[in-house]
Amino acid sequence: MGRARSTSSGGRRWSLWSLPGQALVYVLSVDLLAVLALAAATAWPVPAGSWTTFAVLAGCAALHLHCSRWIERIRRDHSHLPHVDLCSIWILAGALVLPPSLAVALVVLMYAHRWWVVGRWDASRPPHRNVFTTSMMVLATLAASGVAGLTGLRGHLLAGRPGGALDLVGLVGAGAAQWLVNTALVAAVILLTVRPRSVKDAIGSGADNLLEAGQLAMGGFVALAVAWWPGFALPMVVAAVALHRTVLIHQLELAARTDTKTGLLNAEAWHLQATLELQRTRQQPPGSRVGLFMIDVDHFKDINDTHGHQTGDLVLRRIAAALESAVRRGDAVGRFGGEEFAVLLPGVDHEEATAVADRVRSEVHRVRVDVGDGGVVAGLTVSIGIAVWPEVAEDTVSGLLAAADSALYEAKRLGRDQAQSAGSRRRARWTPAARSERPGV
Ligand code: GH3
Ligand code: MG
Ligand code: MG
Repeated sequence: MGRARSTSSGGRRWSLWSLPGQALVYVLSVDLLAVLALAAATAWPVPAGSWTTFAVLAGCAALHLHCSRWIERIRRDHSHLPHVDLCSIWILAGALVLPPSLAVALVVLMYAHRWWVVGRWDASRPPHRNVFTTSMMVLATLAASGVAGLTGLRGHLLAGRPGGALDLVGLVGAGAAQWLVNTALVAAVILLTVRPRSVKDAIGSGADNLLEAGQLAMGGFVALAVAWWPGFALPMVVAAVALHRTVLIHQLELAARTDTKTGLLNAEAWHLQATLELQRTRQQPPGSRVGLFMIDVDHFKDINDTHGHQTGDLVLRRIAAALESAVRRGDAVGRFGGEEFAVLLPGVDHEEATAVADRVRSEVHRVRVDVGDGGVVAGLTVSIGIAVWPEVAEDTVSGLLAAADSALYEAKRLGRDQAQSAGSRRRARWTPAARSERPGV
């Protein structure tokens, strides 16, 4: 798995010499280690029959990449999102059935081809990033190859008599070794280059890892097929391209819901999620509630005017991260545009919403962004408008948003850096009798 996610997390593009010192040392060390490992692996003898297997696997990988090149190019346009490439199928198969020398040659060939077809058009991905991905995969392949050799799995496959529980242990162990080495190397570079918001950002989401596990399982089957007769690897190209296409569709769905600048939900996706949540709450027993915030950063224009729009964008990202860390995991945080955000808080009453608003304000206040030359953007404040259903007698998200928006303007009018609630002004309209008259309640 070449996890370009490692270099896209946080929306930062990194060139080699602009890396922080520790990250630069780490990247160059991994590259050097891979070169040494490659040199050592070439000393490994190559049995005559392995060349045919190598040619078939390299051909299948090349065909897979050729048929999916347009998919990869589209995926690259959404490189702010997690990116798992689909090379592991062929890499694990090679590690299982080829001698280490040819297994790593396959990796180098695949990533060189990949760079030629996709990477060289991608200005945001300087060549050293491709080198680093290749280096990681060389090391991961050697780990898998080592397990396949030590457990006797490779010998059994090449002898045409795979089977038995120990071979299963070898298969799972080799896949796990490839995953573990790759994941550890990726996680380390993420930790050294960007400050990940969560473990998920460093080791990948459950969906990313499931995709990787699926590829490794396919790689195991390719190895079994190839051990029987190399041509049997060909049908797996169809499966690989189909999987690739499915990944693209999922990625585009994610892109359609995501605000590119902050990684939060965009306005449409937030509205949809909020509408579903409000509908769900309205079907629950009396007493169920849902809170909604409209948040506007105070005097944000001053940041742009003083430090420029790029710094403004970075501040927006940090504010988005602060909002996410101030609310619960299931709360929907969206960017409405500009420096305005909306949060939906299922199940909170007015008092709880007020407490969360205070937490949001203090998290944002803690944000510090270095702007170079010793300058820093700090002491940010936000104004918040709160609406809690059913205290606010609006049955649509748009109605609740309008109420929260009025409260937000009240907060601005009263001097900013505070939360104001729409509930208290509208609560008078809401009585148990009125509640029972409302549709769907
Ligand atoms: P107030 O306290 O009244 O909200 O003042 P303000 O300066 O935050 O509000 P105003 O509406 O006057 O300005 C909002 C600014 O947000 C203006 C615009 O340049 C900036 N802005 C909007 N979208 C973006 C963006 O995506 N990136 C950056 N850097 N700035 C943005
Ligand atoms: Mg505004
Ligand atoms: Mg503002």
